[in-house]
Amino acid sequence: MEKIKTPLESVRSFCIQCSGDSLVNVSKCHFTGCELFSRRSGKIHKALTKNDHTTLSAIRAFCIGCESGIISNVSECIIPTCPFYNYRFGKNPKRAGIGSIKNLNKKRK
Ligand code: SF4
Ligand code: SF4
Repeated sequence: MEKIKTPLESVRSFCIQCSGDSLVNVSKCHFTGCELFSRRSGKIHKALTKNDHTTLSAIRAFCIGCESGIISNVSECIIPTCPFYNYRFGKNPKRAGIGSIKNLNKKRK
């Protein structure tokens, strides 16, 4: 079974695809306005990060842009092979419920 990529790893994968599968082209990307720009290397370059985005919120913003700004269309995305598909709501499904009162109470028991 294929390992599920982290949000940052997913950004890296997306950027490699976007750059024609060329790592060199990813590093040469000059689209500074892209929501993913500061994370395209698979690391976070804080100085380049827009709007204090987290990686998940950057993905969310990117997905909204991908759907021409129509937020409701993001949920109807029909490309499950996209590296961002699982993160398109700006949440990490693997962390669902972590930190909830219910789960915190379970841990205390
Ligand atoms: S930062 Fe944006 S434009 Fe640049 S490689 Fe990544 S997805 Fe493509
Ligand atoms: S997950 Fe869907 S909406 Fe998000 S970037 Fe990929 S294709 Fe676009």
